[in-house]
Amino acid sequence: MKNIFQKSSSNWVKYDKYEWRTATNGKCYITPSADAKPSIYNPIKDYEKLVLTAINIGTNTMNRADEAELKESIINFVNEYGMLGLMTALPTTPDFITYEAVYLPKNHFIKEESISTEKYLSYFFPFDKIDFRKMGVEASWSMDSVEMIALIMTMKNKPQAVMMSFQKEYAEPYEWLVEVFRDWAFTFFSSFLYYQDYDRLDENERNLYRQGIAAFGGVAPTYRIELRERPTIVWDFNSLLLCVQMMFSFMLTDENSSMKVCKHCGKAFIATRPNMEFCSPQCKNQYNVYKSRAKKNDTPR
Ligand SMILES: [Zn+2]
Repeated sequence: MKNIFQKSSSNWVKYDKYEWRTATNGKCYITPSADAKPSIYNPIKDYEKLVLTAINIGTNTMNRADEAELKESIINFVNEYGMLGLMTALPTTPDFITYEAVYLPKNHFIKEESISTEKYLSYFFPFDKIDFRKMGVEASWSMDSVEMIALIMTMKNKPQAVMMSFQKEYAEPYEWLVEVFRDWAFTFFSSFLYYQDYDRLDENERNLYRQGIAAFGGVAPTYRIELRERPTIVWDFNSLLLCVQMMFSFMLTDENSSMKVCKHCGKAFIATRPNMEFCSPQCKNQYNVYKSRAKKNDTPR
């Protein structure tokens, strides 16, 4: 499976500036800055970097990095790739606007199996309410931003809720994001350690890893073919979260390159040769320096 996404494309929206803001409920959210401008990009173009960046933020959360450090790494991620789109990733359907209520499969964040559309939207619009009205299955949404109208014209295939998540008022809670990134890192480490330590693990431990991975998965996005310079698969992801999960799944199962943990810095990286153990020549050098120093210290004087 050599570069499965070579003839693929997709699109997602990112703003050129985001910030952390605390809402009246005391929770901290990431949201586009007041003067930020949206643009459309192709998240699949450099998907390995996208997935590795996401997993390595998760690794930092597992290693209990402090909040300031985590917030910085998350805002860097969002500046580069836009928001995860939790609002459309969590419900049973990204078209939840067209139903009477929002239905939620089991998740880490909202306990209720179904909640009203207004209440659900309030999780993601904690600052300025958007102009949205719901009457049974009918809904009306209006906005007057010229940029949003241009985006809607370009991204005709997206459900309304996805377009709403591209509004400047949209926000995602810090605590939820940390959880999502941590889950990805956990999945990656489960898969990596399962094979690395296979011979050392007993059957119970192996089962724990298998169960940990079994919880990972998602719905497949729809796709279409476009005749560009070459026929191209265009994936219609309804959240960046789903996009990361799907590309991550293909990377985990790729026979030609494997995702590994760097022996020196502990970060995830792509090993292009089977014997690669370090994410960079720098890490390899530093590791060898430490190793030879450690040896020197061990020798009796
Ligand atoms: Zn490294």
